[in-house]
Amino acid sequence: MAGCASVEQNDAVHGPTTSSAELEARAHALDAAHGGTDLRERFELPAAVVYLDGNSLGALPRGVAERVAEVVRVEWGRDLVGSWNDHDWWDAPRRVGDRLAPLLGAAPGQVVVGDSTTVRLFQTLHAAARLRPDRHVLVTDPGSFPTDLYVADAVAQQAGWTVEHATPDEAAATLARLDEEGRPAAAVAFSQVDYRTGRLWDLPGVTAAAHRAGALAVWDLSHSAGALPVGLDEHAVDLAVGCTYKFLNGGPGAPAYGYVASRHVRDVVPVLPGWQGHARPFAMERTYEPVDDVARMRIGTPPMIALLALEAALGAFDGVTIDAVRARSLSLTGFLRDALEASVTGVEVLTPHDPARRGSQVSVRHPQAYGVVRAMAARGVVGDFRAPDVVRLGVAAPYLTHADMLTAARAFAAVLAADEHLDPEHAVRAAVT
Ligand SMILES: *Cc1c(COP(=O)(O)O)cnc(C)c1O
Repeated sequence: MAGCASVEQNDAVHGPTTSSAELEARAHALDAAHGGTDLRERFELPAAVVYLDGNSLGALPRGVAERVAEVVRVEWGRDLVGSWNDHDWWDAPRRVGDRLAPLLGAAPGQVVVGDSTTVRLFQTLHAAARLRPDRHVLVTDPGSFPTDLYVADAVAQQAGWTVEHATPDEAAATLARLDEEGRPAAAVAFSQVDYRTGRLWDLPGVTAAAHRAGALAVWDLSHSAGALPVGLDEHAVDLAVGCTYKFLNGGPGAPAYGYVASRHVRDVVPVLPGWQGHARPFAMERTYEPVDDVARMRIGTPPMIALLALEAALGAFDGVTIDAVRARSLSLTGFLRDALEASVTGVEVLTPHDPARRGSQVSVRHPQAYGVVRAMAARGVVGDFRAPDVVRLGVAAPYLTHADMLTAARAFAAVLAADEHLDPEHAVRAAVT
């Protein structure tokens, strides 16, 4: 995407702005115009921080700490094991799935929550293999998040698949070529948003291309759910997974979700057949028989405190449509890009400017990206670094403002102006980052 900054024009809302005063006036005007979707009051955030890492660990929604205390003290501490029934712990994986479903564009009964994204993806790709037993190729993006690639390779080995690498943009051509070669794909597995560049891929188009080729479409929504409309049902996605601790603010280690389109629910075979997905879990039968609904994708006992924290956290989206969140996000990321380009000479923005291809972050390439991220954090602007040279500024629209975007751009410029990114205190990488 090098050079796209110079060839893509500013859109009408974010006309070219240069001076600092103009940027400030624009930030105020945009914040006023978008006042209806400013949900900062629903979050507990430190006042001195501009938090641009909500795509790694979302902020803490108000009420979650109280709910967790209640779960621990009352449900666990006082009501003990009876809580599985009395507080309906048992059905929480499906209940929280249904609570999440509207944000994914899914009707009820297709989403189950529990286990990590990695485990969900493993369960899901194996389900895809068993839904297409006569096909032996998986198409996936070599730029995927590492865990997705590791799981794809492992499932391929176990299922007797070969893995074909293609970006989502190349999917249609790759699927056609595989057909011609007489080895049609079983499935495509892609992320809707590239975690590194923030590139938004064409989920509807790629899903349709997969279906034309007789393949299943499997999507990882970790960097899109909670930030933009996904439309799983509308676009006839087959299977999907995603994190809940990023834009969904579920908290560190919050359990992931899996989506199975209703037309597949009775045919998916869980590769990890746990007792909690059994048709009669308390009959303690010797052999496994999956329950007749999406709960068959459950495995073992979920992390209940984390699951109930997530349920409470989803309240931050109450009364807000994902389209409204998306409109705010596009305005914020568009303005952040403008502010960076006006404030930082020669900045190279990796994230596409085209709203149809832009996720909810602004990634900037810089040779000393690590030092830049650390020095910005020292100035109270928290983003993150992605190897080898990406400054990633995640924009969780509900709790960020255009004024925050300007603060971030100015911090970026100030760091470079004072060479703070070259200071050994910031530039030398710690062993764990
Ligand atoms: C964040 C993320 C993960 C994380 O997986 P965990 O099992 O939750 O650690 C996986 N895949 C993608 C695409 C991600 O963005």
